[in-house]
Amino acid sequence: MKSHATFMIYCLIPDTNKDPGFLQARNIPKGEAITNTYTPVLWGNRARAAYLASSKLFTCRCERCLDPRELGSHLSSVRCRQCQGGVLLPPSSPAETVWQCESCGENVAAAAVEAMVRAAATMAKGAVGDAEELQAVVCQMTRLVGECHYVTVGAKHSLVETIMAGRLHGEREREREREREREGLFT
Ligand SMILES: [Zn+2]
Ligand SMILES: [Zn+2]
Repeated sequence: MKSHATFMIYCLIPDTNKDPGFLQARNIPKGEAITNTYTPVLWGNRARAAYLASSKLFTCRCERCLDPRELGSHLSSVRCRQCQGGVLLPPSSPAETVWQCESCGENVAAAAVEAMVRAAATMAKGAVGDAEELQAVVCQMTRLVGECHYVTVGAKHSLVETIMAGRLHGEREREREREREREGLFT
């Protein structure tokens, strides 16, 4: 079996960036392994684990993959409906089938949590490229799975990209208009 270092993977906090080449992405203390990630860092633990198992045939055991709180990011935690501000944490082993709220202790069946996440994930379909719709989707997702969940974070990322693309398009249009005005002055 290949080692973690051989795969150059360290999910949330890789120290290199492979685009356009392997560039150092943060300080690497002397003696620390050179690492990289094979998945988008905004995917939750289970989505990354499923992808790595099917496409790379290994289970990552880095600090983030072993942590249900994902180093405090709570990207996979789901909003608890029984208390204010609590989140349901995924079970620590695949054999367990209950998610538990770390604040109030509420137990929810894994199948129910997975259905919620699937429902949230489908909300973004059809809203891509439409900032107003994406904003509404982000609100719906926040109510369903919470503001930190990776599905919500992904929709927020799409919203920012859509807003920025719209501003860029508007700026290009204004520049073209200014060019046309300048051409008009000199003809
Ligand atoms: Zn990992
Ligand atoms: Zn709770």
